[in-house]
Amino acid sequence: MENKPDKGAPVFFGGLQKNSLIDYPGKISCVLFFSGCNFSCPYCHNPDLALGRAHTQQQVPEEAAFDFLTRRRGLLQGVVLTGGEACLNPHLSRICRRIKALGYPVKLDTNGSRPKVLTALLAEHLIDYVAMDIKTTPGAYFPTLRPIDRPQDIEASIDILLAADIDTEFRTTCAAPLVNATVIEAIARRIQGARCYALQPCLTQDALDPAFFTTHPDQPTREDLAAFQRIAAPFVKSCLVR
Ligand code: SF4
Repeated sequence: MENKPDKGAPVFFGGLQKNSLIDYPGKISCVLFFSGCNFSCPYCHNPDLALGRAHTQQQVPEEAAFDFLTRRRGLLQGVVLTGGEACLNPHLSRICRRIKALGYPVKLDTNGSRPKVLTALLAEHLIDYVAMDIKTTPGAYFPTLRPIDRPQDIEASIDILLAADIDTEFRTTCAAPLVNATVIEAIARRIQGARCYALQPCLTQDALDPAFFTTHPDQPTREDLAAFQRIAAPFVKSCLVR
């Protein structure tokens, strides 16, 4: 099926990573970055994208990205849409449609703040894999991570993905003091039965808010993550440390 341009203003991606072996589990993928985010996680390691700037100082026009995807058919096995927060972009469903029309499975990374977008994408079978960050217990996002306090959005997205009939994963960047053993257990209980729960270390370089690590210099170690894994594992089908 040929991929004809849809109606609507073209999108400028905040970046394009041509090859990745790690962003779409089990697939060689290309990563398209959306610029802009409604969160302000102090440890965000894509601060340019979070602040709405291009990832590589050079935006990628939609047609250039799709020319690339068209040429790579048969070589790439999937496309990852990440950010920033892709679900904020009003053209996301159209972009997914174009990617699917080229025959690629689509993985979406999201912070879970737009449950209605997830519902619409799932209803139209436009996404094949969703990875949702759960950054701490939903009631504790405000004000460190998010200027608007709407824990119900996070809760709704969790429920949508727990019920979804596609590959899903939840993941937590283990940043103190947002995350500790008690928080990990609460999250694991909340996502009980989830297919996959991934725990990620908090990287301090190139962070959105370097001052956060001056105030909170003691971040969880690899040993701490292994202990968190032991706490969470009984609640989910698979718990891994990245
Ligand atoms: S870590 Fe993700 S959700 Fe948080 S500010 Fe960065 S892009 Fe946004």
